[in-house]
This record gives sequence, structure tokens and C-alpha cells, in this order.
Amino acid sequence: MTAIRQPPLTDSFGRLHDNLRISVTDRCNIRCTYCMPETGVPFTPHGEILTYEEIERFVRVAVTLGVDKVRVTGGEPLVRRDLPELIARLAAVPGIRDMALTTNGVLLDRFAEPLYAAGLRRLNVHLDTLDRQRFIEIARRDELERVLAGLDAAKRAGFVNIKLNAVAVKNLVEPDIVPLAQFARRNGFEVRYIEFMPLDAQNLWDRGKVLLADDILAVLAREIAPLHPVPDPDPRAPASEYAFADGVGRVGMIASVSRPFCGNCNRIRLTSDGKLRYCLFALEEDDVKGLLRSGAPDAEIAAAIRRNLAGKWAGHEINSARFVAPPRPMYAIGG
Ligand code: SAM
Ligand code: SF4
Repeated sequence: MTAIRQPPLTDSFGRLHDNLRISVTDRCNIRCTYCMPETGVPFTPHGEILTYEEIERFVRVAVTLGVDKVRVTGGEPLVRRDLPELIARLAAVPGIRDMALTTNGVLLDRFAEPLYAAGLRRLNVHLDTLDRQRFIEIARRDELERVLAGLDAAKRAGFVNIKLNAVAVKNLVEPDIVPLAQFARRNGFEVRYIEFMPLDAQNLWDRGKVLLADDILAVLAREIAPLHPVPDPDPRAPASEYAFADGVGRVGMIASVSRPFCGNCNRIRLTSDGKLRYCLFALEEDDVKGLLRSGAPDAEIAAAIRRNLAGKWAGHEINSARFVAPPRPMYAIGG
């Protein structure tokens, strides 16, 4: 059946939305301090999590509204059983031009090959440090070796342009900035620093704990080589890109706090329990699981997506006194 294309998804500020982030689980096999609490995480029961059939159906409807990019995330997406099956289903949806996976890499040594075979070509692997003790301090699990093995496996499987995601937390990751960038340059990866955002489960965030993109750039330029801004082929992508002047590699800065990029936002989100969110920081969300499970027609699901987007604000207010952190932490939204 050929889906009928609808008018594109545009919010009340005229921003076109064609990029969908899908969280497939809120579970995780590590416990990063800036995301999850160490113990007692209230995970969603399995029956409340969207099935792969439900996610695929949602994506097919979203495509009729102009969505052509998807990113699969979590929690840790690779702890969800048979993730390559979902990747293969989404790769086969006509109209999806670009698909990416964000993972902590712990299970990549096992899954890199089947993911590639399923059609995945873009990988972001979360890595803050190359030091085993510091990894344990940050992620509260002793898994650095497996992440590094996962990166090797990903290269062997055929993945290129792998991005490394590091979270920029002040007084925590400073010793890792230069070693991580050097590691990336040696291996053909690109490190992307994400400024620490107020989405941690324990409300530890305050502005003083954000390691700012400009400070990281200054360290890299001083210790490695000068950096030049380079235009991103997708101007609506959240990262600003910089190339090392010696011609070896690039770094990206996702400066959500110091240089918010909301004006260019093209992203909508589907949580693992079937809620629609127009922003990482949204305080309200709309349910689509009920529609998917009650046999609602595609038009109703499309209408729910449009309704949710209609409420989208101009941007988050992290930098204002009015800011209220969302009730869901990062692991339950999908970064
Ligand atoms: N488990 C996968 C991972 O860690 O890549 C996917 C989900 S994780 C929530 C997605 C991204 O969010 C990761 O790259 C992580 O670095 C980032 N992240 C988590 N908590 C954050 C926070 N409080 N501020 C900024 N980025 C955060
Ligand atoms: Fe897990 Fe990713 Fe959150 Fe770390 S950032 S605890 S790997 S979901």
C-alpha cells in the first residue's frame, strides 16, 4: 500500500520537522552519573514498551508527514532484545533516508556486524574517558574494555565516520579531553562534546557544572592544534563542527547550554513507552501507544503528531530563572 503524503510537519514558528528520535528502552547496562541514579531506577514494565511492530507502524505514519531521518536511542538500545530486527524493519520503510544509532558501545562487539547487515550505517558511541578508573567513576561500571572492543568491532564491520559522544561536565571530564581527542584522531573517529544538560535523574545539574564548548575548544587548540569552524552539510544538526588545522580530524560541539540551537530544531521524539515529545525539555507529552494499541487509523496517529508539535515552544529556557526540568530524566526520554 502506498502511503499518501501529507503537508509537511511545521510548527507554529515555521520550523520543518523531519527528524525522529526513537527511544526503544529506558534500561541500561551502565549508570552514568549525569544520567541515571546508581540504584533503584524505576524502569518501565515490558508490557508498557512499544513493540517493534508498533514502532515500525509509527515510523510509516511519520514518513507520510515528511520525516525522513530516524535515530534509535534509549536507555541503552542494545539491551533491547534483537535490536537489529528493528533496524532492518526501519531500513525497509520507503522514505527513510538516514538512520543512526546512539549506543554506549558496551554490547557493540556482539552487535556491530548484525547491525551493519541490517542496514545501519551511522553510529554514535558514547565514550567519556579512556582511563579505566575514571570510566568506573563516571559510569559506575567496569566496562571500558568492552566499549573499546565494540569500537574495534564496529570498524571491522564496515562502519565509517563513527562519532564519539562525551558529556561535558565541569570538574569531571577535563583530564579526558586531550587523550580522547588524540584517540579519535588516531582512529578516524570524531569526538562530540555535549554540554551537560539538566536531565540527570538526581537533579545534580547546575549551570556551574557545565563545561562550556568554548573552554573545551581552547584546551584542544592549545594542546593539539588550532581549530577552524567548518560548515555542517546539515545546518539544522545540533553540533557545530571544527577541523584541526593540521588536517587530522574534527571535533563537534553540542553547546545546548552556552549556544542553544532551538531556532533550527527539526526533531520530534517518541519515548519507549509511546509518548510524543516535541523537545528534550518538554513538560507535557501526548500518548500514541493507546492509539497504536486500539487500532486507530493512520490519520489519527498523524493528527496526534501534529497536535503535539503544535504545542512546541520557541526553545528551552535552561538559561532563564523560569526553567523547570522535565519530570523524565535523559535515560527515559532518549538523547
Ligand atoms: N545509552 C546510549 C548512550 O549513552 O549513548 C543512548 C542514550 S543516552 C541518554 C544518549 C546521549 O545522551 C549520550 O550520548 C549521553 O552522552 C547523553 N547524555 C546523557 N545524560 C546527559 C546529560 N545530563 N546532559 C547531556 N548529555 C547527556
Ligand atoms: Fe546509560 Fe546512556 Fe544514560 Fe549512560 S547516558 S546511563 S549509557 S542511557
